[in-house]
Amino acid sequence: MIVEVVASGTELIRGRSIDTNSPYIARRLNAAGHDVRYISCYGDNIRELCRGIAHAFTRAQIVIMTGGLGPTVDDLTRQAVAKVTRRKLVLVRAELERQRNRPKINERQAYFPKGAAIIPNPVGTASGFLVKHGRRVLAALPGVPREMEPMLETTIPMLNSARVTWIDKAFKMAGMSESAVETELYPEIRKFKNVDYGITAKSGVISVILRVHGRDAAGTIDRIRTLIREKLGNAFFGEDEDTIGGRTAQLLLARRKTIAIAESCTGGEIASRLTDVPGVSESLIEALVTYSNDSKVKRLGVKESTLSAHGAVSEEVAREMAEGVRGRCDIGVSTTGIAGPTGGSAEKPVGLVYMAVATERGIAVERKVFGGSRWEIKSRAAEFTLNMIRKALLDEK
Ligand code: ATP
Ligand code: MG
Repeated sequence: MIVEVVASGTELIRGRSIDTNSPYIARRLNAAGHDVRYISCYGDNIRELCRGIAHAFTRAQIVIMTGGLGPTVDDLTRQAVAKVTRRKLVLVRAELERQRNRPKINERQAYFPKGAAIIPNPVGTASGFLVKHGRRVLAALPGVPREMEPMLETTIPMLNSARVTWIDKAFKMAGMSESAVETELYPEIRKFKNVDYGITAKSGVISVILRVHGRDAAGTIDRIRTLIREKLGNAFFGEDEDTIGGRTAQLLLARRKTIAIAESCTGGEIASRLTDVPGVSESLIEALVTYSNDSKVKRLGVKESTLSAHGAVSEEVAREMAEGVRGRCDIGVSTTGIAGPTGGSAEKPVGLVYMAVATERGIAVERKVFGGSRWEIKSRAAEFTLNMIRKALLDEK
């Protein structure tokens, strides 16, 4: 079924807050086998909201709205839906009961378009609703993500004939360029006639995004997984929600390895990503942000002479940092670089980062010049380093 997601909120169209609900809803509905084709967004304006809903009905069978269900004057969803579907707003007694002992204006939340099915709100005060409009259906959910999310789960089974006709799958690669991944995989994947192919890159992670149609979708996915493993080897690290940090932490735990980290330009991003994984305390012994030269000397034993001869952003310093922090751990990791936007030179440009991974078998150092903003450079360097750790772990056996 074709779906349009309609978000409302003046703050959203003014760019003061970000509409995170629509992509969330789109992901969940896609996973449930629906075809989300449109996401639209309107301010808290009754005329425009009505037009938007009417427009959505011209091109989608399912309309999911988020926001504007509250009790204040800018909450217009119930009026707009009533108007477009030519229904009256009627009081629902049980809902009025729920608003007892709450401010008088909350009583508005007990009114729903006539004939609407109520979608209970287990967390907040405003219930959602679902109405039919000819052969179309519209569900209105609150704007607060914490309320909307569980209510969406109640809504999905209420949307008729949600047949899963395809499976979406993302395969994730690191340490390769987008074009290299495509060159390796696309000629093979295009041979599958039931597969839609897409590819995206973010922070050094290349995702091949597939929509696989038909009865044997699961079998096709298995064959493509095998193919990717054969073609790309260790560059293939995970699927769907997997992250490099997550996979690296899992490997550390599975191999019972300990790790210590000394970060300079990444400012703790590597440690942050590893600590996203529960239980990583078994492996992660310590993580330091050694930002100044002084700290690199005092805490890691980097030699003053190395710093003055090569500068803090150098292969030599990266090595001494990784070896210094490793101590009695199995793995020592370091980063040192120039995140910008200032501080670069011809010889050492903004984005230059040295990353080192020391193990008992030796030390690997990589030099990279990452592009992008300060934030992107930090993020890319962190992902790259995590991938170095992952590869070091995979090379162990
Ligand atoms: P409700 O229907 O739950 O009453 P509302 O639109 O009336 O929602 P607001 O007061 O406008 O509620 O917003 C409540 C909170 O929900 C705010 O923090 C707002 O940023 C957030 N929110 C609203 N819409 C969205 C959205 N599309 N994506 C993410 N957050 C949202
Ligand atoms: Mg709002």
